[in-house]
Amino acid sequence: MMAISDRYYRPNLCLRITTCTGPEKPVRMLQRIKDRPPGPTIIIALTQQNASELKKLLLGHGIISSLFFHKPEHDDAGNILEWFKDNDHPIIITTPGNENHIKAGKLAYIYHYCIPSNIAMYADGLSLADGTDTDITSEIIATPEDRQLIINAIDACSFEEDKISKLVSQIFFGENEVEIRFDELMKINGKPARAIEMLLTELESMGALKGGNTFYSVAMIEPLKPSRQIIARFDRKRGEFLTAIFKNLEKRGGRLYLDIKKTGEAVKAERKRIIAALKYLEESGDIKVEYGGLAKRYDVPVNPDITAISQSIFDRLELDRKNKIGELNKVVDFIEHQGCRWRYLLGLLGEDFGRECGHCGWCLGSRPGLIPSVTKKG
Ligand SMILES: [Zn+2]
Repeated sequence: MMAISDRYYRPNLCLRITTCTGPEKPVRMLQRIKDRPPGPTIIIALTQQNASELKKLLLGHGIISSLFFHKPEHDDAGNILEWFKDNDHPIIITTPGNENHIKAGKLAYIYHYCIPSNIAMYADGLSLADGTDTDITSEIIATPEDRQLIINAIDACSFEEDKISKLVSQIFFGENEVEIRFDELMKINGKPARAIEMLLTELESMGALKGGNTFYSVAMIEPLKPSRQIIARFDRKRGEFLTAIFKNLEKRGGRLYLDIKKTGEAVKAERKRIIAALKYLEESGDIKVEYGGLAKRYDVPVNPDITAISQSIFDRLELDRKNKIGELNKVVDFIEHQGCRWRYLLGLLGEDFGRECGHCGWCLGSRPGLIPSVTKKG
């Protein structure tokens, strides 16, 4: 028998599965929390919106929880984690990947309020149980709707073969250097930001694009004083420079936008000089500035072979899509497996447990059944 590493297996962790339809999911979640003895709980929802909705639902039943989304610049994170440590029965709702930033120290429940999209990530997440000697329940609540949502998200990042060469031509349009605007590519190609990001990352890893400095291409400006009054404070030369910049402001939906690159070309000034001027006006209380239009600047080869790049990037993204679907299917197999959860999970991770664990949901007699088919509306 192969030795079982303690990388994944935890004798105090009970793996449980619930399968139900989407509309039943919140009810089941609520039942679990109400029926089981209270204890430190981490709930992993699919999206921030799902997390907020669940928080509201729990609150409606008198159950207090906190949302936690790790952001390096976010100050709240530390406070929430302190709260988790200090509270007897805290409930934190988060989204996939964020749970790794919660150093719980003590834990009673991990709920996957959606299907994990990847078995390795699910298994790594079980390390949340480390540092707790008492029994922990980790339960996946699996619905057909969530499965479909994950498939849709994967598909949204794939591109049709004929569209990809069009997109590649849009990216490799310049000589030596290009600036790629996420919002423009998203609009033209009807793709989410992460699809564009993934495509660019792949092009970088292929070596077709080099550089990749991120910057904002648009300034959204809110004047706090009339422009004449702002300009009057400056000498003639500076006043003219500001007037020239202001001439490039475009009004869209009640807001003023400044395309920094276009403005730079129009007033014959470098980007950093325009940014410096805006910063100065902002600090003087003349305007409010917000930056947007996420973009990346790349070095591009001279006369790129668009056909070869398109084929290569298509093959890479297609392989990536198939791998992700394959990963999701493994999770579904795990959920629908009729047998010991630990034994099957360790098998998927390349370890032979050689026996039944005796303490997972299945071993304790739970028979949740297959994920039902998507609920028909009406
Ligand atoms: Zn078992």
